[in-house]
Amino acid sequence: MKDKAYSVPAIYGVNVFSDRVMHERLPKDIYQAIRRTIQSGSQLQPEIANTVAAAMKEWALEHGATHFTHWFQPMTGMTAEKHDSFISLTGDGQVMMEFSGKELIKGEPDASSFPSGGLRATFEARGYTAWDPSSPAFVKDGTLYIPTAFCSYSGEALDKKTPLLRSMEDLSKIAVKVLHLLGDTDVTHVDTTIGSEQEYFLIDKDLYKKRKDLLLCGRTLIGAPAPKGQEMEDHYFGVLKPKVSAYMHALDEELWKLGIPVKTKHNEVAPGQHELAPIFETANVAVDHNQLTMEVMKKVADSCGYACLLHEKPFEGVNGSGKHNNWSLVTDTGINLLDPGKTPGSNVRFLVFLLAIIAAVDDHADLLRLSVATAGNDHRLGGNEAPPAIISIFVGDELAQVLEDIEAGRSGRRSKRTMMGVGAEVIPSFAKDTTDRNRTSPFAFTGNKFEFRMPGSSVSVSQPNIVLNTVVAEALEQFYEKLKDVPQEKMEAEVEKLLKSTLKKHKRILFNGNGYTDEWVEEAAKRGLYNLKSLPDCMPMFASEENIDLFVRHGVFTREEVVSRTEILLENYSKTIHIESLTMQDMVRKDFTPALLQYMDKLTGVILVKRQILEGAPCSYEKGILQQLDAAAEQIQVSLAKLDADTKQAEQVAEAEAAARYYQSVILVDMDELRAAVDSAEALIPDSILPYPTYEELMFSLR
Ligand code: ADP
Ligand code: MG
Repeated sequence: MKDKAYSVPAIYGVNVFSDRVMHERLPKDIYQAIRRTIQSGSQLQPEIANTVAAAMKEWALEHGATHFTHWFQPMTGMTAEKHDSFISLTGDGQVMMEFSGKELIKGEPDASSFPSGGLRATFEARGYTAWDPSSPAFVKDGTLYIPTAFCSYSGEALDKKTPLLRSMEDLSKIAVKVLHLLGDTDVTHVDTTIGSEQEYFLIDKDLYKKRKDLLLCGRTLIGAPAPKGQEMEDHYFGVLKPKVSAYMHALDEELWKLGIPVKTKHNEVAPGQHELAPIFETANVAVDHNQLTMEVMKKVADSCGYACLLHEKPFEGVNGSGKHNNWSLVTDTGINLLDPGKTPGSNVRFLVFLLAIIAAVDDHADLLRLSVATAGNDHRLGGNEAPPAIISIFVGDELAQVLEDIEAGRSGRRSKRTMMGVGAEVIPSFAKDTTDRNRTSPFAFTGNKFEFRMPGSSVSVSQPNIVLNTVVAEALEQFYEKLKDVPQEKMEAEVEKLLKSTLKKHKRILFNGNGYTDEWVEEAAKRGLYNLKSLPDCMPMFASEENIDLFVRHGVFTREEVVSRTEILLENYSKTIHIESLTMQDMVRKDFTPALLQYMDKLTGVILVKRQILEGAPCSYEKGILQQLDAAAEQIQVSLAKLDADTKQAEQVAEAEAAARYYQSVILVDMDELRAAVDSAEALIPDSILPYPTYEELMFSLR
């Protein structure tokens, strides 16, 4: 716990070049120009950059900065930064601190060492970073961080921010047009909002360092299950352990200082697993903040003696981690378009947007699925905790009733909120939510927003939101085309027709039941829904003609950008599994096998000595263990040789899609086989002999 008390409002955003700071330090007209850019995406005139840069520098120097960096999000999924100091020589052997508008607006990092998926030959190494005024600059560790977009010399996006901004602008435009048709003529801009809940594991730092698999791959590749897992359901929302609680406090404080509105924290389902959730923000800022959050989580963990695991599946046999992406649309007049209000059945605006989303998710489930595909997340989707790989939408009972009425053409739909009484008079009664929870649904309506639950815990939430924005924009565009020439007096009837026909066409995507059952898998197949289990199954669909056409039409990706991103994602997948295979082999050979042999040697010694002392002693217990270990050793030898040979084979597969398929269908299977043999032996070997910590130590030693 913090020993000294502090006031949250006093520290909130102290390290941010925030709206308040800009208001205080910038001339009025320049401040207003920036506000316009932030609120409605209007372009900023480059002339004002010098004034902003000067104010930013002064503020940054006061906050201890010596350097500045253009902070960007290349396709590695991480953030990137190159620090330049503010110094410039004065000619008399002294320095002064300078920062120009040009340096604020544009950076020129060498782009050749970032993934480009063939977009840029190395001889055209020049890349540009361009200031994104819609995401606030901040000071961290003595450097002024300036959020930027990253593109190639010829203007193709090489990052995760540029297409997100494009998709937000596109969606805003079409949403405004639809709202105008429906009578909301004062709306000029619609913002995409995101709140991303972040799951993670904490483990002891010293234990972490003893495992190559965690160090190099972020997940355990071998490890017999602990006697206890998550079956007691005693960790979810459980009491926070004091040291974990101290970590969470320290983390909150760091994040608040960076202006990240973290709000909620609790223990998650698996032992050692936790969650943090911020208050939602505009999509672009929320994505930047989530990237920053992940970084600070690791840093604070390190200073508290922990390692923070963000991998989607650090441990076999217990839940993995995801990142629930809460998504909504808010107008500049302050209306949340996904707020059903008291009578959703007669809230036409809400229903139009709801049905556009239903249509979008049904038409483009393949894109949504692939937007969250990574080698890590494949382990999670379809496991018994995360949503299944099949995409469906949960709307809850109340909306299901409304939709039923629409389909049946029943007018006068008036679903009412029911009041909740728990049967004890002292407990005040309250209005029930419109939806119950359905934790098994990958795409759930949760009261006034949709919660897309498939994104993995370690990756940027940019890609799923790029896709979500684009497909919803597409559905709205189609609605707009159908409604734009309808005279006002007929609008209501035409909208009603549109809602009805949309629902008829897309209701197969609605599912309110349990998404974990085999029956649902069968039922979904009958409905013709996708069940794309792995990245190689879905990634090639990204670059289908239809999808390229969609992204190009909406100005979100060019053809080249889609093709290059497909390439990068396939390559990342193969590289990840390649590293895992090599790490696993290394760990089995150099860490596990010596322990195995040591224990076998010990048992053999015991048997031999015992026989000398106790003539005719059967030694059946010792022999039994030895035999089991020997059988495992034989299997390990075979499986290890196969993994080794197949991995060498995989290295020869040049084409990206073929390579990814090979890693998925051969290498992962080999790794499972090897793991089964190793784990069966590990379960018999004393912990004191193993050179690395077991599952039990990793998950249950947190204080
Ligand atoms: P739960 O665990 O029930 O899903 P949490 O409070 O952990 O709820 O997370 C809900 C998330 O949804 C928070 O990040 C919250 O800020 C976010 N959220 C709420 N309203 C909106 C909205 N209109 N748009 C986007 N996100 C929202
Ligand atoms: Mg949630």
